[in-house]
Amino acid sequence: MFGVTKKREIALADTIFDVVVLGGGPAGYTCGIRAAQYGLKVALVDANDRLGGTCLLWGCIPTKAMLFSAELWDHLKHADRYGIDVNPPKLNWKNVLARKDDVITRHTKGLDFLMKKNKITTFKGFGKLTGPAKDGVHTIDVKLSDGKPETIKAKKVVLATGSDARVLPGYKPDDTILTNYEILKIADAPKSLVVIGSGAVGVEFASIFKSFGADVTVLEVLPRVVPVEDEEISKELLRQFKKRGIDINLSIKDTKVEKNKQGALVTWTDSNGKQQSKQAEKVLMAVGRAPRTEGIGLEKTGIKPDRGFIMTNEWMETTEPGVYAIGDIVGGMPQLAHSGSMAGMVVAARIAGQYAKPINRARIPGCTYTEPQIGSVGLTEAQAKEKGYNVKVGKFPFVGNSKATIVDAHDGFVKVVSDAKYGEILGVHIIGPYATEIIAEAVTAIQLEATVEEMMFTIHAHPTVAEALLDAFSSVEGKPINV
Ligand SMILES: Cc1cc2nc3c(=O)[nH]c(=O)nc-3n(C[C@H](O)[C@H](O)[C@H](O)COP(=O)(O)OP(=O)(O)OC[C@H]3O[C@@H](n4cnc5c(N)ncnc54)[C@H](O)[C@@H]3O)c2cc1C
Repeated sequence: MFGVTKKREIALADTIFDVVVLGGGPAGYTCGIRAAQYGLKVALVDANDRLGGTCLLWGCIPTKAMLFSAELWDHLKHADRYGIDVNPPKLNWKNVLARKDDVITRHTKGLDFLMKKNKITTFKGFGKLTGPAKDGVHTIDVKLSDGKPETIKAKKVVLATGSDARVLPGYKPDDTILTNYEILKIADAPKSLVVIGSGAVGVEFASIFKSFGADVTVLEVLPRVVPVEDEEISKELLRQFKKRGIDINLSIKDTKVEKNKQGALVTWTDSNGKQQSKQAEKVLMAVGRAPRTEGIGLEKTGIKPDRGFIMTNEWMETTEPGVYAIGDIVGGMPQLAHSGSMAGMVVAARIAGQYAKPINRARIPGCTYTEPQIGSVGLTEAQAKEKGYNVKVGKFPFVGNSKATIVDAHDGFVKVVSDAKYGEILGVHIIGPYATEIIAEAVTAIQLEATVEEMMFTIHAHPTVAEALLDAFSSVEGKPINV
């Protein structure tokens, strides 16, 4: 009698999958599950020992689990403000990390369950393309994690191999110079931290570790923090970070990190051309993410990567017939879990010959999980003007929102960018309480092409932070109720 492994080997040798997905991050596993839901026979290969990719293991989920602990900690420090007397609360770093790991484990197990539920054949190993399809069938070579080789045959291939943290040239991550990977398993909360880069990843860690009591310094080469956001959002985050005691340095250059016994000395040239320095226990490099496209056999295909990124058309098709790319490896797409997972759903539908809608970049929300949070979608005011719209803006401050008072988070605003001619909503930019949750309403409004007037007559439950959106839409017409 054959064992289970042998039976699987024999079955695999004869199997031609409909789709093989390389990469089990949010882009890859979503694509695999949706393809299976359409009745396709799916194989999923992941190089890691656990499914979930950067998002679940080293990105979205662990950071937000730590952020939740940081928020609780912030509230506990001021518990008396809410009528609760507590003995001085104590931070237990080991348990902060343990809870974060528990959240990850629950969801990796959840993914294993979903693979089984959807009858997806999974492989733990590193997969690579071997060349164009022969007679409509692609061959993928996999080096399994136990070192054995495996060959998978499939009619379509979806590349979803994700990205890795970049570091400044000449540096390597270690226990002082950190990327998102090292900082998420740091043995103790650092007393001082220099964050290089003020994109979403940089400011999120700056915010979290400030809450946990670190002396935080942020260095940014551009003239504003969160540079992809609307300028007013950048200004407000800068104001609030300064209020929290985070030291922000903009328009800097020539950053150097010299390790020493106490950690590292970071030096830079400030915006006035003066040399500055900061000694810190740890340094986080948050200077972008590089696509993981080396060694996956692209050179054997018609795909010519652009600085490592794979270019696709609106249906995520690459220049190699039958090969698709989704997620962080795709050039010109935001490196966000939800844009990757939606791309995965679009590809699955296309392969299955089902209805699909291409991704519209203007409708991908961006969320930054700082204190305060940022949620945005669509054009910034400057982008709308550049595109030649006759722009009409409405802005509503959270100070006029009763739920914001209840949750003690009055700072920030909702800004609506619209086209004066037809009242089209071009962009919505929120900084303040629950911004990353309530942005969903704006995404839906833009997706369904709602006008400002329609949103002004959309009922919002009371008291909710979401009501700030109703007031912001009304502000476009100069008619907010609560300010
Ligand atoms: C600190 C941090 C916080 C973040 N927070 C957010 C957030 O809050 N919201 C958000 O939307 N985004 C967030 N992101 C971005 C998000 O994590 C990524 O956009 C997302 O994980 C990309 O998904 P992906 O599937 O393309 O790639 P990945 O998640 O990187 O997954 C790729 C997978 O492919 C596997 N792989 C690689 N090469 C091969 C191969 N040759 N064969 C087989 N498998 C392979 C890898 O093992 C990995 O599991 C964050 C990122 C970081 C670093």
